[in-house]
Amino acid sequence: MTVQPAGGASTRGVAATLGLVDHHCHGVVPGELDRPSFERLATESDWPLPPGCSAFDTPLGVSVRARCAPLLDLSRHASGEEYLDRRATLGSREVTRRLLAASGIDLFLIDTGFHGSDLLGPEAMSAATGAAAREVVRLEALGEQVARESTAARFGPAFVEALQERSRRCVAAKSILAYRYGLDVDPTRPSPGEVAEAAGRWLTAADRGGPRRLDHPVLLRHLLWTAVELRLAIQVHVGYGDPDITLHRCDPSQLTEFLRLTRDSGARIMLLHCYPFIREAGILAQLFPHVFLDTSSAVSHSGAGSLALIRESLEVAPFSKLLFASDAYGLPELYLCGTAGWRDGISRVLDEWLAADLIGAADAERYVRMIGRDNALRAYGLELQEDGR
Ligand SMILES: [Zn+2]
Repeated sequence: MTVQPAGGASTRGVAATLGLVDHHCHGVVPGELDRPSFERLATESDWPLPPGCSAFDTPLGVSVRARCAPLLDLSRHASGEEYLDRRATLGSREVTRRLLAASGIDLFLIDTGFHGSDLLGPEAMSAATGAAAREVVRLEALGEQVARESTAARFGPAFVEALQERSRRCVAAKSILAYRYGLDVDPTRPSPGEVAEAAGRWLTAADRGGPRRLDHPVLLRHLLWTAVELRLAIQVHVGYGDPDITLHRCDPSQLTEFLRLTRDSGARIMLLHCYPFIREAGILAQLFPHVFLDTSSAVSHSGAGSLALIRESLEVAPFSKLLFASDAYGLPELYLCGTAGWRDGISRVLDEWLAADLIGAADAERYVRMIGRDNALRAYGLELQEDGR
């Protein structure tokens, strides 16, 4: 049943056309994709699909066939085979051009810390789309880079200098503490002595042939607290969104004490993805003045289900604390499905509220603009003209 808003007012128009700020995404993969490569990028799993499964019979797959297929001149709900054939005929460049133009994103904030050299970076994304793009620096990737050129005793201060330098050209920092250790980490700032000792143990293990993957909890705390002390906007991975997660250790309520300790620091904490902890994240966004949240990857990877996720995000969090993001990685389809799913979901929920006379038409339109664009510009201290520049 479709609910008709009172007096015919609807947010559908503004939600469909608003130029969005995508506050968390990665670049598009350049070059042509064969079926296995497409399928690998269409899931957060790092396993190939088992026999009998198709990437087109998933919530994302049906969303691609419904929303992206018509943009490639196919009928809505085209089959996966038809879709991939048409994709190959058009070529990746043209597919990227069409899907990103239709996504209506004015500004991309791009995390370059995961296979960044295999993806289009901020400049290339901007050139491919005509939209603006800014870089987000991944703390753990920068820490690993610093470790290659540093001693254990120097690691702590060398990381502070490196982040200071990178934050001059980056718009935010990103933490993957959730799956390098867990959000249930000691929330306090480690002392310089603890950092040097931990760096010694970690570097010695790496020198003996261990992985140079920064996962020591003391060092992870040092990275995060350095970003806090630089008063940065810090994106924190929460919940779904990576194959390395142990889900129950990615629950943002485990950050409560850290959020208490950083409340007056000047840093802002952006909880990313949040599924299935959207309610927990919403509560934290209400309790703490410096906490924001999005539903990014869950909406991009879901079809019809995204409506329920968007509805949950609007339960208790102040509307000024909600951000739009696609968390798209590699496939241009993810930007399109993320934006289209959000545009559809937000207007359906707000139109229900309009129909019940819980909000007025001017409020409904304002909330779409806040969540889709203005909250991110304010939270990251950015400016953007209406034409996206
Ligand atoms: Zn991401």
